[in-house]
Amino acid sequence: MKLVTFAYNGRTAIGTVVNDQIVDLSHLAPDMQRFIELGTAGLTAAQTAVNTATNTIPLTAIHLLAPIPTPRRNVICLGLNYSEHVKESYGARGQQVQLPETPIVFTKATTAVSGPTDPIPYDPAVTTQLDWEVELAVIMGRSGKNIPAAAAMDYVYGYMVLNDISARDLQMAGKQYFKGKSLDGACPIGPWIVTADELPNPHNLRLVCRVNGVVKQDGRTDIMIFNIPTTIAYLSLGMTLLPGDIIATGTPDGVGFARTPPEFLQPGDVLESEIEGIGLLRNRVVS
Ligand code: ZN
Repeated sequence: MKLVTFAYNGRTAIGTVVNDQIVDLSHLAPDMQRFIELGTAGLTAAQTAVNTATNTIPLTAIHLLAPIPTPRRNVICLGLNYSEHVKESYGARGQQVQLPETPIVFTKATTAVSGPTDPIPYDPAVTTQLDWEVELAVIMGRSGKNIPAAAAMDYVYGYMVLNDISARDLQMAGKQYFKGKSLDGACPIGPWIVTADELPNPHNLRLVCRVNGVVKQDGRTDIMIFNIPTTIAYLSLGMTLLPGDIIATGTPDGVGFARTPPEFLQPGDVLESEIEGIGLLRNRVVS
């Protein structure tokens, strides 16, 4: 099932995409967070709504919002989780390559989250080094602590495309990533949540990032250093994960700052982030 949050006729609602139509699910929950918390009961009720739907809305008539517009806590992110990206990152700084032995975890502010076609704000007084990172985002379906890796996939609700847009000047200047990763509009997600049953093998997906149609990143999720079960087991060790938590699983190589010469997003650029089996985000940089 593809789950969306959308704006239509002046209101915001949740729904599911069936072919090129949307079936409104707002009678089941007021927002996506609450719908996820219904778990499998919610998905069963959604299927019933699809089967009995008489009124659908054309996908072309609505505006897609971030599937979870305001996550209840920060987006959890893995840094340096693809070996070629680790190499380019250390290489760009002239440092010895060190593959991480434990996951590198940071977060992005909830206010950074934006929708699949929302603009990416550009303000040279804030940053001149906006960079791209296409990533597979995992959404937790239920709460759990000390989740064994062998059971971790049972906790996954679904997947989205996410771009972990990064202000490299702010990121590198500080000792923590948080500020450089958390500017408004620096976390486009979507275009919908693809539920886990529709993506039985999330470790075999192509992920591509384009700027103005030029491919910058072209990787596969099978080369993550820490895969999804290992990541969930690590994060949940002594720390409760919650339904609706978003985990960004890292980016493949091809980011801008590691290029020769370095490349950064400019006003007017169109950033496309695409994952096989999920969909496409298209965000324009706007000054
Ligand atoms: Zn990232």
